[in-house]
Amino acid sequence: MDVLYADVLLPLPLEGSFTYLVPPVFQPSLAVGCRVLVPLGANKQVTGVVMGLHGNKPAKGRLKSLIDQLDTEPLLGEETLAFWSWIAAYYCCTLGEVMNAALPAGLKPSEADADQLDRGTQRLVDVVYPGAEYADSPELLLEVLPQLTKAKKQAHLLNVFLTNMLTHSSEEPILQKGIEKRTLLDQSNATGAQLKALVERGLLEIRSIPAEPSMEAQPLQAPALLNEPQNKALASINDQFNQYPVCLLHGYTASGKTELYIHLIKDCIEQGKQALMLVPEIALTTQLAYRLKRVFGDELGIYHSGLNVRERLDVWRQVGRQNGCKVVLGARSAVLLPYHNLGLVVVDEEHDSSYKQQDPAPRYHARNAAMVLAARHGAKTLLGTATPSLESYAHCKAGRYGLAELFFRYADASLPRVEAVDTKDLKRRKKMKSLLSPPLLEAMEAAFEAGDQVILFQNRRGFAPMVTCKVCDWVPKCPQCDVALTYHKYHGRLACHYCGYEEALPTRCPSCGEPKPSPLGFGTEQVEEEVKVRFPGISTIRMDTDTTRASGAFTRLLDRFQKGEAQVLIGTQMVSKGLDFSRVRVVGVLNADQMLAFPDFRAHERAFQLMAQVGGRGGRRDRQGLVIVQTGRPDNPVIRHVVNQDFTAFFNEEMMVRQLFGYPPYGRIIHLSFRHIDQQIVRQAALFYAEACRERFGHRLLGPDQPQVGRVRNQYRQSLLLKLGLDESAADAKCFLLQQREALKADARFRSVQLVFDVDPV
Ligand code: ADP
Ligand code: ZN
Ligand code: ZN
Repeated sequence: MDVLYADVLLPLPLEGSFTYLVPPVFQPSLAVGCRVLVPLGANKQVTGVVMGLHGNKPAKGRLKSLIDQLDTEPLLGEETLAFWSWIAAYYCCTLGEVMNAALPAGLKPSEADADQLDRGTQRLVDVVYPGAEYADSPELLLEVLPQLTKAKKQAHLLNVFLTNMLTHSSEEPILQKGIEKRTLLDQSNATGAQLKALVERGLLEIRSIPAEPSMEAQPLQAPALLNEPQNKALASINDQFNQYPVCLLHGYTASGKTELYIHLIKDCIEQGKQALMLVPEIALTTQLAYRLKRVFGDELGIYHSGLNVRERLDVWRQVGRQNGCKVVLGARSAVLLPYHNLGLVVVDEEHDSSYKQQDPAPRYHARNAAMVLAARHGAKTLLGTATPSLESYAHCKAGRYGLAELFFRYADASLPRVEAVDTKDLKRRKKMKSLLSPPLLEAMEAAFEAGDQVILFQNRRGFAPMVTCKVCDWVPKCPQCDVALTYHKYHGRLACHYCGYEEALPTRCPSCGEPKPSPLGFGTEQVEEEVKVRFPGISTIRMDTDTTRASGAFTRLLDRFQKGEAQVLIGTQMVSKGLDFSRVRVVGVLNADQMLAFPDFRAHERAFQLMAQVGGRGGRRDRQGLVIVQTGRPDNPVIRHVVNQDFTAFFNEEMMVRQLFGYPPYGRIIHLSFRHIDQQIVRQAALFYAEACRERFGHRLLGPDQPQVGRVRNQYRQSLLLKLGLDESAADAKCFLLQQREALKADARFRSVQLVFDVDPV
């Protein structure tokens, strides 16, 4: 019998594949693209993918046998592997790292493990339903209420439950005829014991169901009928697709871009092809899933890292099959699925920097990778946004992408009015007595009186970015990172936003003994406290990484705001993301200057986008919204463009700056980060490396410098920035940089220095 060898790709940051012996039992069925379990080192096992099968005994070493074959049919084909290889080469990482990002956790261990894992990770949620007797007609519970006069709290709870049930519109993503236990208890201010009492009386029932509610029961609907401007935009997109592989749809928030996507996706699958729709955040997939599911039913697959193993494995397999699901809605990693016949890719909110993966490798940009993927399939890409990235818009201007516009809000909703409020002037005149300026307070007051809602945007979580001693200027710092600790008043703690380190706020200054170090600057917590003091009786929801950490929390908070359970939504950039609020009249941007001052060449672009996006949440239906931007620099050009809602003026001006300094889109950037526990060594390594590269790149290589935060998790950092001209070969440059990394590693002094490449950083 021929001895067979398998070259196996492992999910590791190592180049190349590893060769294993194939035991005879697997020989008939093993194929390229199947996953296998293999031994690694002394006693580890990892899952890899078979890249090749052959009879050529490798020259060196004793070979180990693979342990198990995990798939009977290949999980991915050559086309997918080729695309992953492109990602690895472009973003300077290994194919194993791409595989690690692509194969969901549960696809890695063996099938049996995956099932167990499944049981462990399946997120269940407790949902309250009417008791068995009332299941068909919950309104009968109304008759029970007067019996409950002695148990006031229970009556209240039941009442809140019924109000929810009976006013529940079929469009909302709640669990068929039930309400989540947590939401119910929140809303009714009741305890678990009170709920339990109602359950014991047989009035209510609690069931644990999978967290992603099943949506199968919905009858399918045709895509929405488009209005005149939407029809024109759709025709224009199709027209552009005849000339260009990529089209940018530039349209106001709430103009109906999503409705256009649905039409295009429908056309695509009717031609027998697959469609992929990418959104920048997992939470947004939940929001959109209902709109897409209504039209595409079982043809829709949802894919992101928040799903459980079985759900992801299912979509993974479906996507690879000829007759499997036709439409995939997903976040970043959905671009790595094994499509076989892609016809259309939609990238919603294409400007969003969450499309770029930061850590760990592969540090890929899902929007850009998606365009490459589409091109490989001969598919079209539609980029949609209200605030295009400079890159995409520049491509349109240069005639590389098509451009379609939709500058009408659906149902004649008007754009909000934007005003800048000069906080410096107000301070000088002693009129700025709090975080909220008098004009903003007035506007909020008027909104509350009319029963409308308010969004307050402050791009900093916690209570205060730092605390300080008034006497000796002592500031608490993170012991592992070179940053000040952020004060979180709610927990009475100081936290590091880089590594998660926490400690209690000291009651006395450890340096001079003065009592009570005081907060400096402000974050979302402080804003919330201020609103509560100013407007007693007005309820608030705070949305930032602190309040949305729990799974499903983001959607739950939004749901509550959308239902009008709170009048004010306070949050970080999360409140700017693709959400549709119909009762928001006032949007306040509390500190615009902070965004503008960020030391990054994209700071202005990001500030403009954030302000325009968060402002776009206001005044969506029948009334005009008002956006108030608090700034000490009302004359700043970016602020003026935000106030005038003039994207083109912003674009033209910012492009001049980028051209002057050779920044994207007038050049490409590669960022190099050196990391090591020893400050001297990391500095020397960066100097050594820079020296080696200087001859080739000259002044286009900037640094080495210590980044703004010079130490994270006890690792000191140094960075280099390489600017490449558009006429230069980036591939050659990367090749050179990688060679130099080998040279660096070959030097005994620098062997343990980590050098991380970030291609096209955002
Ligand atoms: P965008 O994606 O541009 O922000 P959406 O597609 O979310 O806009 O549209 C905003 C709101 O208007 C949504 O509630 C959507 O359902 C509604 N809408 C837009 N176009 C139509 C249409 N042609 N028919 C019915 N409803 C529409
Ligand atoms: Zn002190
Ligand atoms: Zn830290």
